[in-house]
Amino acid sequence: MVVYNFSAGPAVLPDEVIKKVKADLPSYDNSGMSVMEISHRSDLFDNIIDQAQQDLRALLQIPDNYRVLFFQGGCTLQFSAAPLNLATEHKKIALLDSGHWADRARDEASRLGIGVDVLDSTKNLHYTKLPVLKDLPQNTYDYLHITTNNTIEGTAYSSLPKTGKTPLVADLSSNFLAQNYDFSKFDLMMVGAQKNVGIAGLTIVVVKDDLIGKAKNLPSMIDYELFAKKNSMFNTPPVFAIYVAGLVLKWIKQQGGVAEMDRRNRKKSDLLYDFLDDSKLFTAPVIKKDRSLTNVPFVTGNKALDQELIQQAGEVGLLNIKGHRSVGGMRASLYNAMPFSGVEKLVDFLNKFEKEYW
Ligand code: PMP
Repeated sequence: MVVYNFSAGPAVLPDEVIKKVKADLPSYDNSGMSVMEISHRSDLFDNIIDQAQQDLRALLQIPDNYRVLFFQGGCTLQFSAAPLNLATEHKKIALLDSGHWADRARDEASRLGIGVDVLDSTKNLHYTKLPVLKDLPQNTYDYLHITTNNTIEGTAYSSLPKTGKTPLVADLSSNFLAQNYDFSKFDLMMVGAQKNVGIAGLTIVVVKDDLIGKAKNLPSMIDYELFAKKNSMFNTPPVFAIYVAGLVLKWIKQQGGVAEMDRRNRKKSDLLYDFLDDSKLFTAPVIKKDRSLTNVPFVTGNKALDQELIQQAGEVGLLNIKGHRSVGGMRASLYNAMPFSGVEKLVDFLNKFEKEYW
């Protein structure tokens, strides 16, 4: 049976990448060693990490005055790392509360004693629309934190807030390389790799040069300046995760880059949203203009029926469509590696389910 994996992360990888990993696994580049066995100080790995950085720079057209850094600790650690590195002048940040992950970022910064002003929140609407930036007082905050795509709630910014001279820091974990933006508008991007750039264990930070080096005596493992100086190899980096990320980046380049991913993800999510909007049984709760391209939540309104649907979907190879425990219902994650045929099969299944149960 063909299986489609709609997991929110770790998530589906392109078939071509899995095949390449399999072929490379016993002996990387005819070295007689697996990537899992090579030293991070070897020429073999130097090539892997340099190529991955170059490919990412090419895909996003990252200007020379940005650094591409590789960390461990997940995007969650960056919720502490970003304020510790950047919030040095005002010791205060602004944040748009668009859902669970924005709130986690708020919480981590607060724990450090850094002031966090939530400038807008849509919590009272169950995050079915995005908060907006109405006014950002200048010279008040070290940066504004946003979550470009809210993995759990299924919202995504299609245009970015205008922050003036205040740096824009964004968590792009769930639509990185999947939705096109003017990437030069971000002063810092933080991304957990396990959705669109490979596997868990790697976190990517792309940060403007002039924002780093202001904080002193940080823990080494979150020190942007130190990682920039050491080419992300202050200690042993996640070698295998960086290797897989390199393969995924190559795959995206071959497919036509971020603009092509954006186009495909729009086509996939349109197919699903159009079906849901026409349906009598299903509802997609997010308002149209704020809908995510990569995470599509939907409900029947009946918990037992949702449960039945999730089970039947699993039986026909439509896996991991259970919604996050905080929202319930279903969620289909349509990241880059999810083919159009997967969404067609899902819509076909939902259609039949509706005919049977409505
Ligand atoms: N931000 C977003 C938008 C996420 O979806 C996630 C994880 N699902 C995180 C942050 C946390 O990432 P990690 O598990 O890598 O710490």
